Amino acid sequence: MSDLEPRGPQAAATAAPTVLGGRGLVGAQPVRELLAPRETALGGSTVVRRLLPNLGRRMVGAWCFVDHYGPDDIADEPGMQVPPHPHIGLQTVSWLHQGEVLHRDSLGSLQAVRPRELGLMTSGRAISHSEESPRPHARYLHGAQLWVALPDAHRHTAPTFEHHPDLPHVTAAGLDARLILGELDGTRSPGTTYSPLMGADLTLTEGSDVRLPLERDFEYAVLTMDGLTEVDGVRLAPGSMLYLGSGRTELPLRALADGSLLLLGGEPFEERIVMWWNFIGRTDEEIRQAREAWMEGSTFGEVHGYDGTRLAAPELPALPLKARGRVR
Ligand code: MN
Repeated sequence: MSDLEPRGPQAAATAAPTVLGGRGLVGAQPVRELLAPRETALGGSTVVRRLLPNLGRRMVGAWCFVDHYGPDDIADEPGMQVPPHPHIGLQTVSWLHQGEVLHRDSLGSLQAVRPRELGLMTSGRAISHSEESPRPHARYLHGAQLWVALPDAHRHTAPTFEHHPDLPHVTAAGLDARLILGELDGTRSPGTTYSPLMGADLTLTEGSDVRLPLERDFEYAVLTMDGLTEVDGVRLAPGSMLYLGSGRTELPLRALADGSLLLLGGEPFEERIVMWWNFIGRTDEEIRQAREAWMEGSTFGEVHGYDGTRLAAPELPALPLKARGRVR
């Protein structure tokens, strides 16, 4: 039997979230912290709202980067155009609700990623890739770009790209949960993971009132993609991210309108990391070496077929980069 049963008619009181908290310890307890987005221009016509890393809150499990974009009308725009660029030490998840992104990488992959399909790239020790809206493309583009930090034991692994078009679902009254990574209620994504974590795309119909089973040892956050929902009593509009802390065995969700959420969770990531540009390492020296290798054209291979020049790395700061933990 599933834990995903309707909660019944009782109304949850609306709870007030903490705004931009997270400067303290994570603590093994449930919290409700609203993370404010920061707008950043990406390639092409795409402006993203960056939710992780955020002021005071850098990670949720091994999830270390969350950008939300759209829905954008790109009928007369180039859409997303991110030229070839390198990565080390992480996995990227391209997750769409509308539109299509064409992925190319230095392994020779050429893959269209469509709504609710998993495009999972494991950079391991070195990879380069590009992402673009195909031409012609659908009118609307809406999605999220997510990164997962690789633990030290796996970050030098060989690069791979996986495409999983048919992800498993968990369903309950008013809920359809698609597993992006990891497991929910006994159903598991085929995507390769390297630390205990999960990600799910939750579609809720108006009026649904459910409790999702959670792992007590995981910390969690939700990102609202569409609609109006109450997560543990906090009302969330699209583009909002609510950090939930840990120590929870279930999560109350109510849909005030049809909508969808991304649920991200994982064991708190205890390693200190250096995150700069598209690199995740452990030391300043490692990041400087990766930048130099990219700029001189070694190590990261070639991306073929992208119509444009590859990205140049920005200048490094004069002071050494410092390894940081999951909270500032
Ligand atoms: Mn990338």
